[in-house]
Amino acid sequence: MTHDLVVRNGRAVLPGAGLCAADIAVADGRIAAVTAPGAAGSAQDELDADGLVVLPGLVDPHVHFGLGHPDDWATESRAAAQGGVTTVLNYVQSSSPYTEAEPAERALAASTSVIDWATHPIVMSEEHLRELPDLVREHDVHSFKYFANFKGDEGAYMGVEGTDTGFFFALCRAVAAFPDVVLAVHPENIETIWRILPEVKATGAEGLPAWNAARPDFVEAHDIFTALLFAHRTGCRIYIPHLTNREGLEVIRRHTADGWRAHVETCPHYLTHTAESDVGSLGKVNPPLRTQDDVDALWEGLADGSIQTVGSDHNSRPRAKKEGSIWTASAGFPGVNTLLPVMLGEGHHRRGLPLERIAELTATNPARIFGLHPTKGSIVPGADADLVLVDLDREETVDASRSESRSDFSIYEGRRLRGWPVATLRRGAVIARDGEVLAEPGTGRHVRRVPAGAAAPALEPSR
Ligand SMILES: [Zn+2]
Repeated sequence: MTHDLVVRNGRAVLPGAGLCAADIAVADGRIAAVTAPGAAGSAQDELDADGLVVLPGLVDPHVHFGLGHPDDWATESRAAAQGGVTTVLNYVQSSSPYTEAEPAERALAASTSVIDWATHPIVMSEEHLRELPDLVREHDVHSFKYFANFKGDEGAYMGVEGTDTGFFFALCRAVAAFPDVVLAVHPENIETIWRILPEVKATGAEGLPAWNAARPDFVEAHDIFTALLFAHRTGCRIYIPHLTNREGLEVIRRHTADGWRAHVETCPHYLTHTAESDVGSLGKVNPPLRTQDDVDALWEGLADGSIQTVGSDHNSRPRAKKEGSIWTASAGFPGVNTLLPVMLGEGHHRRGLPLERIAELTATNPARIFGLHPTKGSIVPGADADLVLVDLDREETVDASRSESRSDFSIYEGRRLRGWPVATLRRGAVIARDGEVLAEPGTGRHVRRVPAGAAAPALEPSR
């Protein structure tokens, strides 16, 4: 038979088999066959991947499209495509009911996104709690988020009602009614921060070290423990996003060794930057950048399986909102476009992280945890033909002006990284090549979740 496309002569990262010389045949947007080189047969189109590595298109489990700007889907999805990301899970934040906000978000993404997506609604009110079962049953929602740091008045500026630990417990109980639904928890104990932060600020301290001191590692570990305990007692499937530090990792290791369960994510910036990094208030983020010992701990966690995913926590903030005092600068920064180069340059080349592990962390595991596998996340017949062709030896200096993101800076600006995507395929279509985006707006799609129970992954560390 004649396929639509064959990606020939590449070395593909295949599940269970590692890096293999392979041809990948595509028909109707899906992977039709993965064969020995030369055995895929004829095709209308060919893509020569000689000298390149073929990874599954990245599934970024953590982006905030719409938080920086209402039109983020148009721009940030293009930045994602440049970086080899073919699916994102977006945190949707609304003070309206999600039975209204979720369809509106999907319509917005459908009109402009060049990549595929699913969402995590952020549960912020009693009304959100009440409508949760309906969202799962009627709206194909598979994951939610809770901001443990927006208790009391903390989230008022974002329209977040005052919540408390009891609300969090009730949310865990509500999610536990659905065995494969996942609750992501932003863990920072705000009550302790309310006590510490004013003390640090009063000393006149500035910069990233002050931000780290005001929201220290143990306040994160505290709420990680609370999340693990509630998950253990309710049966809720819990996901710890953006782990930053050794203390938190040790809490997770200690309790998962006892049979408690959690999925764990870290972000590129916690693997590359510390509070001492020379990026000033551009590096302000919650939770904060930590220490070199924490950076080392997180790389160990990625290698040994205690951490299962890496997400960008992408936010399209402009530089103008990031400058000035650490106490008033906005938190968050862009990262969806540099996620893969950072994992290849700093992870594979510098720390020896195997490419198979990078594929698991950035595609297979997020897809499995959030109900998108096997449609997304692996190079296997039947999956969507989401592929990223990588030149492992290409060296480039990060230059924010080349990103299609609305944001105008990068915390990696000027950093030389080795290993870059040269082509991104979404359902068989080349949507980016050598940094140029080729896709039309509105060609991305919402990804249906795999039905309950069909592919629920083990919660234990995968290895
Ligand atoms: Zn985030």
